Amino acid sequence: MAKIRIVDVTNRDGEQTARIVLSKLQKTIINIMLDQMGIYGSELGFPLSPHEWEYINANVDLTQINDHDGEPVIRQLRLEGWSRAVAADVEVALRKTKVKNLNLSISTSQQMLEWKFRGKFSRDDIIKMMTDAVRTALEGGCEVVGINAEDASRTDLEFLKDFGLAGKEAGAQILRYCDTLGYDDPFSISERIAWLAREVGMPLELHCHNDLGLAVANSIAGAVAACDEGVDAYINTTVNGVGERAGNADLVSVVLALRHSSQLSQRGYLDEGIDLTKAWRLANYVADAFGLPIPINQVGVGANAFAHESGIHADGALKDRSNYELYDFEELGRGQTEERRTGREILTGQHGGTSGLEYVYSRLDLAFRDAEHTRQTLHLVQYANLCNQKQLTEEELRFIYHHPDIARRLLTLTP
Ligand SMILES: [Zn+2]
Repeated sequence: MAKIRIVDVTNRDGEQTARIVLSKLQKTIINIMLDQMGIYGSELGFPLSPHEWEYINANVDLTQINDHDGEPVIRQLRLEGWSRAVAADVEVALRKTKVKNLNLSISTSQQMLEWKFRGKFSRDDIIKMMTDAVRTALEGGCEVVGINAEDASRTDLEFLKDFGLAGKEAGAQILRYCDTLGYDDPFSISERIAWLAREVGMPLELHCHNDLGLAVANSIAGAVAACDEGVDAYINTTVNGVGERAGNADLVSVVLALRHSSQLSQRGYLDEGIDLTKAWRLANYVADAFGLPIPINQVGVGANAFAHESGIHADGALKDRSNYELYDFEELGRGQTEERRTGREILTGQHGGTSGLEYVYSRLDLAFRDAEHTRQTLHLVQYANLCNQKQLTEEELRFIYHHPDIARRLLTLTP
């Protein structure tokens, strides 16, 4: 049976969003958490950007380096880079990074051909640039190459078919349908994807934006249409729905909808490997890292997702939570009581010293071998605090402790 898998793009589309930014350490922690949730892939950034090179290579290395439990730090998450579908860009990406999965993007709509490329390229030119880039990627050692049709929802279907078939012929494995402006609706995308699945016969990836509030619905409608035609589908999500303008499809919403909506829950299309019990933690981590609080009505992870106050609702939820809750909070990893310190606090950071550092780590049950170990860790913690511009989280402190060499690489930026 065809399957729907999630490729999260928080570290690419999410991070390229106006007004927000992540440090390389934060991006790495997000990849590790996505991996722990059994998410299939992470589009982790831009292998053409010099400031991403060391981060991308360090993350690829984390798929080989064992954690303290003897398993690789990143076990199964497929790390994918985004590049323009330009052979010269692909060459640089593969020369500078160890990424083995590339998504090659080029505009396909008449609007963009005329008004972005200013008529410089014909449709044949677009296909040639894309196939040249695909071949360059495969010859350069790429294992999986996806082709992204930017503005696919405003592209006529016959051209998308030609684009997909030419890419497939050149060796691309996935066609990404980008609803770049959030123009589709669930009905249009379902029809268009079903037709493409039949005509092109290759796995389809849904990349939907939320300009009309339809990103989740469109992603699901498209992915289900592909699966109904027997073709595997991928959905691009972001944590908390961050992304260009009104954002991308929210990760938690997509998974919950496929698991719990009235008919889709019966289809069995969703990748069974996904574990949402880390979702609460990840949503909060990403919210803090971006400095974007989670709206109280956010699906699954908002403060009100399981809150009941009005008389009839509270009474009903107390009698049987299924009266007013569609899914259990435990599924999202919620339910624990969080400790909040109200007395003395000892923190560590860019101006911290060894005593404070040892105290903070002792609360995580981590001790230092000797003075040199303490000094080296303190050095990294200072730089990490400087890069993140905020107090380090438990995940970050543990990562620095267990993987100091990788942490050092993530903290090294040389303009
Ligand atoms: Zn996008």
